[in-house]
Amino acid sequence: MKTFVLVFAAASLLSASAQNTAVTPKTSAAKSTSKAQSSAKADPLAVHRAALVIDTHADTTQRFLDENWSMGDPLKGGNLNLESAKTGNLDAEFFSIWVEPEQYKGKYAHRTLALIDSVLQQAAKYPDQMRMAYSADDIVAARRQRKFAALMGIEGGHSIENDLGLLRDYYRLGVRYMTLTWSNSTDWADSSGDYTDEKVPHTKEGLTEFGKDVVYEMNRLGMMVDISHVADKTFYRTLVISRAPVIASHSSARALCDAPRNMTDEMLRAVAVNDGVVMVNFYSVFLSQDYRNAWLAQAPERKKATDELMGKFAAEKKPVDWNALLTVDREFAAKIPRPPFHVLIDHIDHIAKVAGVDHVGLGSDFDGVDSLPEGIDSAADLPKITQALMARGYSAADCDKILGGNFLRVFRKVEAVGHQLQAEGRPRITQHQPGEKK
Ligand SMILES: [Zn+2]
Repeated sequence: MKTFVLVFAAASLLSASAQNTAVTPKTSAAKSTSKAQSSAKADPLAVHRAALVIDTHADTTQRFLDENWSMGDPLKGGNLNLESAKTGNLDAEFFSIWVEPEQYKGKYAHRTLALIDSVLQQAAKYPDQMRMAYSADDIVAARRQRKFAALMGIEGGHSIENDLGLLRDYYRLGVRYMTLTWSNSTDWADSSGDYTDEKVPHTKEGLTEFGKDVVYEMNRLGMMVDISHVADKTFYRTLVISRAPVIASHSSARALCDAPRNMTDEMLRAVAVNDGVVMVNFYSVFLSQDYRNAWLAQAPERKKATDELMGKFAAEKKPVDWNALLTVDREFAAKIPRPPFHVLIDHIDHIAKVAGVDHVGLGSDFDGVDSLPEGIDSAADLPKITQALMARGYSAADCDKILGGNFLRVFRKVEAVGHQLQAEGRPRITQHQPGEKK
C-alpha cells in the first residue's frame, strides 16, 4: 500500500484553488506555478501532517496496568506508543477504560479507578511528550505544545455500578465519554453482544428510566454519550433521549460487514440527523465479510483453546492472564489472511456517503483487537489513510474533518449542551436510583 494515485486529489485542489483566487493566472508560466503550488498542497502526507488527528479508541490502558508497559517503550507487538504516534501524526488518543465484566464482578469501580490511574500515571511519566486533555480546547492546546494528548473514555456502563455519583466521580477524574454498554447488557441498557441471549434480562425500550437518567446526567456533565456496542433498540432510544449529539467511538458499517455491533445505514443516517459522529473501527472482523466468515468458522476451535487456558488459570488459582488469552486469539487470527487495506477505506467512504462527510472519523481499537487490515500495524501507518482517501477524491478539507475535525465539533457541542443544562439547573428525569430507599 505504498503507491498512491495523486491525480484526483491534485486536480480537485487545483480547481478549488482556482475558484478561491481572485485573479486567475492566465499565462502559462503563472499556470505552471499555480499547478506546482497546488500539487504541493495536495501532497497527502503534508495534508496529514497539517491535520489535527484524533483517534477515539485504544485499549493500550490494559498494557499500562497489567504488563507494566509504558508509552515510551517499544511496541512489542502492540499498535500504539509515543514514537508511532509521532510518526503517524496522531495528536490525541482516547484510552479505553474497559473492565472485563466476569473477572471483576463486584469490583467494577476498583478496576475502573485503577485503569484511570494508569493513564494519569503515563502522562505524569512523560511530561515533555504527553499531557492529559479534558476538553476540545485541551486537544488543540496540546497540539500547539507539540504534546500527545491523552484522554479517557469508559467502555461499558457497568463501570458506574448503577450509581450516578460514580459517573460524576469518573467525570471529575477526566473521563469524557462512556459507551452505555460493552458486550454485556447492564441493568439499564442493552448490548448488541448479548441481545439475542434469552438468559440475559433485557429492557423493554432499550433504556430503563435509570438508563435515561444516565444519559441525561452525561449530557449535563458534558460527557459524550457513546453508542458503540449497544443494541439497535438502545441506540434508537438514546437518540430520542440525548440532548447532545452522540458518538460511536469505534463502530463500522453493517452494510459492508454484517456484525451486530456495526451500524446499519438507517442508524448512520440517524446519527447524521443528530449531528453526531461515527468513528470507524479498524478490526478485520468488523471490516471484511470474508475475514469475518473465516473467523466465525474458527469459533468452536478457538473457544476450546480459550476454555482450556481459563481452566488452567482456575486450577492454578491464578488471575486470568488476558495477555495470554489475546495471544491465543492472535494465533488463530494469524491463520486467516489479513484483509486488504482498502476495506478500511471502504467503510470510511461508505459512512461518508450515507451519513455525510461531517459524520465520520477514526476509532481504531488499537491494542484491543487481534487482526488489522494489511498495511495498518500501528499508529505510524495512519498517514496511509489520508493518502488512500485523497486517491479516492477526498479533498484536504474532507480529510481534516475525517481525521479529527468532525469529532472536535461534536465534542465542543457536547460541552456546550453540558453548560446549558447546568445553567438551566433542571433535575434529572427521575429522582430515584436502583437500590435507593424511596
Ligand atoms: Zn469495544
